[in-house]
Amino acid sequence: MGEDLERLKQRLPLLDFLRQQNWIGRPAGQGPEFVGLCPLHSETRPSFYVNALKNLFYCHGCGQGGDLIRFVELSQHLSFRQSLTYLERQSAVADPALVLQQASAFYQQQLDHYPEARQYLERRGVRDPALIRELQIGYAPGGRLRRYLLAQGYSLDLLRRTGLVNLQGHDTLYQRVVFPCYQDSSIVNLYGRSIGSAFAHRFLTGTKGDLFAWESVRQFPSVILVEGMLDLAVLWQAGFRHATCSLGTHLTSDQFQQLCDRPRTVYLSFDLDANGSGQQAAHALAHRLRAQGITTRRVLLPPGHDPNSFFVRGGDARQFQSLLEAALL
Ligand SMILES: [Zn+2]
Repeated sequence: MGEDLERLKQRLPLLDFLRQQNWIGRPAGQGPEFVGLCPLHSETRPSFYVNALKNLFYCHGCGQGGDLIRFVELSQHLSFRQSLTYLERQSAVADPALVLQQASAFYQQQLDHYPEARQYLERRGVRDPALIRELQIGYAPGGRLRRYLLAQGYSLDLLRRTGLVNLQGHDTLYQRVVFPCYQDSSIVNLYGRSIGSAFAHRFLTGTKGDLFAWESVRQFPSVILVEGMLDLAVLWQAGFRHATCSLGTHLTSDQFQQLCDRPRTVYLSFDLDANGSGQQAAHALAHRLRAQGITTRRVLLPPGHDPNSFFVRGGDARQFQSLLEAALL
C-alpha cells in the first residue's frame, strides 16, 4: 500500500496535477518553490506555495498543507480512499500511451466520415475494409482531436508533450491518413501520410517504434521489408503476410536488432526511385544484415516503382512472387 502510494505520487507530481487543474504558479525565488492563488480558499493575493522537490503544498492564508492525496481530500471533499481512486483515474489520464491510443481510436472513427480519406486509400490500392480495420488505419481531418481529448480529461500539456497538438495549440496531423506505431504492444507514435499537397510524411515526437506487426511477422522464416505503410498494406492485401515495414529506409537500432533476432532471409523491397537512394539504402542495409548472419535478397521492381505502385498499376500476387524468386543476392 505504502509503496503503491509513493509510486502514484511519483507518477503524478503535485505540481503537474495542480497545473492540470489550471492552477497558475510562478517561481518563488530560485528554489523549487512555486506560489499562486490558493485553490482551497478564496483570496486575491497569492499565499499558496508548492515545493516541487518535496511534492508538498502549504497555504499561509488558510493554513492547509500536505501532499497530493491531502490536496485531493480537501479540494474534492473525498475520503483518503476515495482520493486514491480518483488519483488512479487521473494518472491514467496522464499516460502518453493511453492518450495516443485514444487519438488512434478517434482517427479510426473519422475515416468513415471523410470520403476523401477513403478515396485516397482506394487510389493507393487499399480497399479491403477488414484489412483497414486490422491495420487500424485512421484519418486526421485536422482541428477536431484537441477538443475531443480535452473533453476526455487529458491536459493540453500532455497533448503537447506527445506531439498530438503543436506549440500553437493546433492538431499536428491535418488531412492525413494515420497509422499507429507500436512498441512492446503500446502505441508510441502516429504516422500521418498526407492525402493532399502537404509534405508526404509526418510523425509525432519520439521513436517510430518496432518493425510493423513484428510479433506475427517474426514467426516466418523469410520476411519482406518495405519502407512505407502503403507498401505493406497492398502486400498484406495480396496475401504476403510476412511483409513488415520500417517506416523509412533508415532502421532504428531496435528495428535492426529485430531483423537479426534469429536466422532468416530478408527480402528488401525499397523504392526504386530515380535518384537511387532507396536502392543505396537497401544495399547498405543488406551489407549490415549479412554481417549479422542474415541472408538478404534485393527485390528489383520495375524502374520508378515501389511495392505500392506496382500493385496499383495492375501488378498481382503471382507477378510479385516471381520478383521475389528472381531477387538478387
Ligand atoms: Zn488557502
